Amino acid sequence: MQVGLSNVLLIEDNRGDAGLVRALLAEAPGGPVAVEWVDRLSPGLQRCAAGGLDAVLLDLSLPDSQGLETVARLRAHSPGVPIVVLTGLEDEALGIQAVQVGAQDYLVKGQVASAALVRSLRYALERTRAEATLRALYAESERRRAEAEALAAKLAASEQRVRTLYQAMACGVLVWDASGRIIDANTVAEQLLGARLDQMHAHTPDNPLWRVAREDGSDLPATERPALLALGTRRPVRDVTLRVTRPDGEARWLLVCSTPVLGEDGEVVQVASSFVDITARKRMEEALEHHALHDVLTELPNRTLLHDRLRQAILAARRDNTSLALLAMDLDRFHEINDALGHRAGDVVLQQVGQRLRATLRASDTVARLDGDEFAALLPGTSAEGATLAAGKLLRALEQPCVVERHRLDIGASVGIALYPEHGEAAETLLRQAEVALYVAKRAASSYAVYAPEQDQYSPSRLGLVGELRQAIEQGQLRLHYQPKVGLKSGRVVGVEALVRWQHPERGLVPPDQFIPLAEQTGLIKPLTEWVLGTALRQCQAWHRAGLELAMAVNLSMRNLHDPQLPDAIAELLAASGVPPAWLELELTESVVMADPVRAMESLRRLCAMGVRIAIDDFGTGYSSLGYLKRLPVGQLKVDRSFVRDMAVDQNSLAIVRATIELGHTLDLEVVAEGVEDRSTWDLLIALGCDLAQGYYLSRPLPAAELECWLREWPLES
Ligand code: C2E
Ligand code: MG
Ligand code: MG
Repeated sequence: MQVGLSNVLLIEDNRGDAGLVRALLAEAPGGPVAVEWVDRLSPGLQRCAAGGLDAVLLDLSLPDSQGLETVARLRAHSPGVPIVVLTGLEDEALGIQAVQVGAQDYLVKGQVASAALVRSLRYALERTRAEATLRALYAESERRRAEAEALAAKLAASEQRVRTLYQAMACGVLVWDASGRIIDANTVAEQLLGARLDQMHAHTPDNPLWRVAREDGSDLPATERPALLALGTRRPVRDVTLRVTRPDGEARWLLVCSTPVLGEDGEVVQVASSFVDITARKRMEEALEHHALHDVLTELPNRTLLHDRLRQAILAARRDNTSLALLAMDLDRFHEINDALGHRAGDVVLQQVGQRLRATLRASDTVARLDGDEFAALLPGTSAEGATLAAGKLLRALEQPCVVERHRLDIGASVGIALYPEHGEAAETLLRQAEVALYVAKRAASSYAVYAPEQDQYSPSRLGLVGELRQAIEQGQLRLHYQPKVGLKSGRVVGVEALVRWQHPERGLVPPDQFIPLAEQTGLIKPLTEWVLGTALRQCQAWHRAGLELAMAVNLSMRNLHDPQLPDAIAELLAASGVPPAWLELELTESVVMADPVRAMESLRRLCAMGVRIAIDDFGTGYSSLGYLKRLPVGQLKVDRSFVRDMAVDQNSLAIVRATIELGHTLDLEVVAEGVEDRSTWDLLIALGCDLAQGYYLSRPLPAAELECWLREWPLES
């Protein structure tokens, strides 16, 4: 098909020539639709730049350009525009040169017919277009060739990489064919599976080289192995953990992925299985699990594992309609051993005890260490009778002293027993009840106790508190309230008693009766008392600076008094706070002093020598020997509030209070009445000659700031 000429530009400075050429073009059939004319090169270039031209007819001698340069400039300016040179010079050599610098044709003025002119223009246009197309095609094919080359190089490189990886990979790779036979294996696969590739060729589902088990240890049937699954389902099978036992008997944990390779017809051609050795990780996990479920010191199951086994045992007992027993055991003098001989000795004792307990019971029983010196035993299929027999056996196992660093240490213990289904059906309940029974056994100083519902006052919640108490001390959840001691004759406030409370984040303000006994049992009483002493002494000092000359009374426990470091610790705390020793009073209950009078005496003498004052608290509730009382360096007797409370209505109580006041005075002691709740009691105490009073009638124990307010308003009466 012929191309049609629409726009042609004529660049010709000779107006006559230009007219001639336009006439020629106009008369030729198939000539251009429009001929534009300019008489110099520069407007010609501008027109070319605007586009839409099919060809340029170009005169070589123009006012602004001469000869070949004219062609060269136009070509350089507009590479895509066909140029036909039309010149007055008849010069064959020039014509050839014009074509060389970029013209498509060369015509001589006056020698060219109109048809030839049009043909030449059209030919120039066709050639230019064809060239452009060719150039584009060529460029495209070049691009593709380059791409293909790059791709080929990449493919070769990646294939090489794959092979290198395949061999050098840390993971094993097996390739299976569609019939489920192994056709390739890398070196790691051979090493991990303990077989060479040629041996693997013989591996079939019916004649396996390896034994394969699931994570839970059960055998994995051949059809469920990842490679065959991938083959059957045409889907990848990912991250299956398997335990593979190799031909040499060694077991390895492998994490396996199997991927089917599909052919064009969508059928599986091959399956590639890759796997990593996670044996080390598995062993670590097992060790961690063991660690998480066992006590490091004794290697016995810990509370978590006991709990778990207890739950299982309850399920089994429910199913089989049998009973079970849970025993909680606590060593009697363990803290003393720890305090006296150090933690290392304590640890040895715990290990020996653990071994003995374990050796005493059946293999089907679980012996666990719960906390500190607390052990537990779970006895499946055991009734009340069996449980008490077992408790007896366990206690007898501890009758022989433990020998630690040439010391022979007597280790007593107490046991609490809870039974399924009599006492509860849930693991938590039984554990708690065994601990309640243990607590009861301890308090009653009997070797064991079977849980009874009326023991519940020994408070499941109180037992739960122990674990949190240590944190409470460290995290500053303890508070001190102060209750004034007032002179009965003078009405003067002579001092305060510091009483600890626990500001529990959930339970609110917990009174000391609910955690002091437990702190005493667990040894936490030591840091607790130190906190109380430190806080009370700092408060005492602050009040003295503010002109409030109040003595500060602090309560001590039996364990505090038996701590040989106590006097030194108190001396340090006094020095740190700057409080003179005479302002500190230590309150001890009778039973504390009488439980071990010799040791108590020693500590008390040292404290007394420092100038600290000692008071006997709750007097009348214990079994004080008057003989001892005489010899103790005590300055104050506090009549127990149970007598004071009733003295106005109960003759017996009144008699006791009167006798106590007299006794105190004969021994030269100041007598304090605790728990004064009303005016009549107050008056009665004045009449009996009691020295000081303390109680709600005057003030409840108050936080320091509130006590200061109270003091400002006191005395209300005198
Ligand atoms: P306690 O040393 O005999 O303290 C007196 C207790 O009687 C306080 O109970 C006090 O609030 C209460 N009380 C005072 N006046 C009255 C009254 O008029 N009527 C009645 N019904 N009660 C009154 P709280 O604070 O609950 O303390 C109980 C016990 O806890 C104390 O008895 C003391 O043995 C012990 N305790 C308190 N703080 C500490 C401490 O820091 N260390 C030690 N080891 N024991 C402490
Ligand atoms: Mg007290
Ligand atoms: Mg008291």
